[in-house]
Amino acid sequence: MRILIADDDAISRRMMGMMLQKMGYEVDCAENGQDALERLLDQDGPRMALLDWMMPEIDGPEVCRRLRAANDRQYVYVILLTSKDTRESLVEGLDSGADEYLTKPCNSQELKARLRTGERILQLEDKLVSAREEMRFKATHDTLTTLWNRGKILEALDEALPQVDSMAVLMCDIDHFKAINDQHGHLVGDEVLRELAARLRAGVRANDLIGRFGGEEFLIVLNGCDAARLPERAEKLCKAVSESSISIDSRDISFTVSIGAVAVDPLDAKTPSETVLNLADAALYQAKKEGRNRVVIAQRLVRGSIC
Ligand SMILES: [Mg+2]
Repeated sequence: MRILIADDDAISRRMMGMMLQKMGYEVDCAENGQDALERLLDQDGPRMALLDWMMPEIDGPEVCRRLRAANDRQYVYVILLTSKDTRESLVEGLDSGADEYLTKPCNSQELKARLRTGERILQLEDKLVSAREEMRFKATHDTLTTLWNRGKILEALDEALPQVDSMAVLMCDIDHFKAINDQHGHLVGDEVLRELAARLRAGVRANDLIGRFGGEEFLIVLNGCDAARLPERAEKLCKAVSESSISIDSRDISFTVSIGAVAVDPLDAKTPSETVLNLADAALYQAKKEGRNRVVIAQRLVRGSIC
């Protein structure tokens, strides 16, 4: 664990540094409040800090206030150090966002105990943050395929539409998926969905969007893909995802997909996403009707209606 010591007094810094190193901590030093703040705001900065109250440029409590105001980095455990020991200064110190308050000169045993508390708090904080990240991931992703879930891909489409330059919306559905499930079981079906998701992901560009729309249906938004390029890109994707079979438990399972696609351009910026989806869906239905394993491109949208 790395600790920042911020103190304008060189002797205090050195003594405190030796004390901390003896306890097994790695030590960083700052000679004033500005330097301390910059180091603490750094994404890879120390997670713990001992801040002297009186320092040139910015004092300890102000460093603390500014650090807390910039809440985009991991939590930093802050102990304020001062020779002030009145009740008012204690309250002021803690109000600035400091976690702990020690008067100088510090007792080594007490400091050690406070730092251990700090480490415990940081561990709890890290657990909370990763639990929150996990929840956020689960709320926006499909657990089986780890692609975006329906809510998230629809939200992304709604955000993309009003500022559209050119893009294409594709609805992709596995052909005869029920037969795969019936013949090989649902676990194999899940494996097929996972594999298709991976192939779709590999088949689109980094700035394209992709999500699981429903059971075996996937929604893809190709950014920057205009009506002229859509047929080729959709065909390529359709072939790429089904060109090789999947081996599951030494069984070779092959599958195909049908794709319904629609191109969207700036004239369609006010078109509701529902209209776009309905067109893609109708095209997908047409692709199924025409024999599956193919792409059907919907008629172009003009201001929300088919022309
Ligand atoms: Mg000082």
